[in-house]
Amino acid sequence: MSGGEACDGKKLVRSSSGLRMVPEHHAARSPFGLDEPPWVPDKDCPRCMQCETKFDFITRKHHCRRCGKCFCDKCCSKKVPLPRMCFVDPVRQCAECAFISQKETEFYDKQLKVLMNGATFSVARGTSEKSEMMVCRLSNNQRYLFLDGDSHYEIEIAQISTVQILTEGFTPGEKDIHTYTSLLESQHITEGGNTRATGMLLQYKAPGSEELTQMKFTASEDFNSNKKLSAAWLAAMHKAAKLLYESRDQ
Ligand SMILES: [Zn+2]
Ligand SMILES: [Zn+2]
Repeated sequence: MSGGEACDGKKLVRSSSGLRMVPEHHAARSPFGLDEPPWVPDKDCPRCMQCETKFDFITRKHHCRRCGKCFCDKCCSKKVPLPRMCFVDPVRQCAECAFISQKETEFYDKQLKVLMNGATFSVARGTSEKSEMMVCRLSNNQRYLFLDGDSHYEIEIAQISTVQILTEGFTPGEKDIHTYTSLLESQHITEGGNTRATGMLLQYKAPGSEELTQMKFTASEDFNSNKKLSAAWLAAMHKAAKLLYESRDQ
């Protein structure tokens, strides 16, 4: 049975940071999600952790919702959306966190939709030479990759161990597998840039198996598929992998 598209119930939760809309069950949460940080206790921060202004009745302290550190109003004035912590409204963040969150907005506004809309790839499983044209898309709850062709596969995002984006003029070899660190350091792949993404190697654990399964996705020249769309989908997947690793690291 397909569990991926089940409609997960959500509930409103009020924390000291603001209103959050979270899944009823922890297991249903987005693999890109982040936990709320613990707040630095009031007694541990007599001064702003950025500009060192002393707090008093006039200079009030504020906690950044993303890092939990303590700041004066000037150093923590921006209210920015923080979808990874499921906040309904934009929340107060320090300058450093606001910058990161703003950059993530692009992923949530554009790239997540690209992933959910899907793109067509020629997909080969394991070391097989045989490939199949499949439409790949992210499930609405962000927890599965659905692959549809003559066959149907569901890859749980949480079970993905490595994502390697293949670019033009680049032949994959054993040493080129992007581990998580090199992926974080790798250049951002932009659509239409001089490093256009042409494929992806994915390793993941299938249910009930301890072994890693590998899938190779290739943007093909087939007239049914749109190569530009596939490149945009891969660029979005590249960004998704970065967020995924951050979420696991916390
Ligand atoms: Zn300050
Ligand atoms: Zn912060």
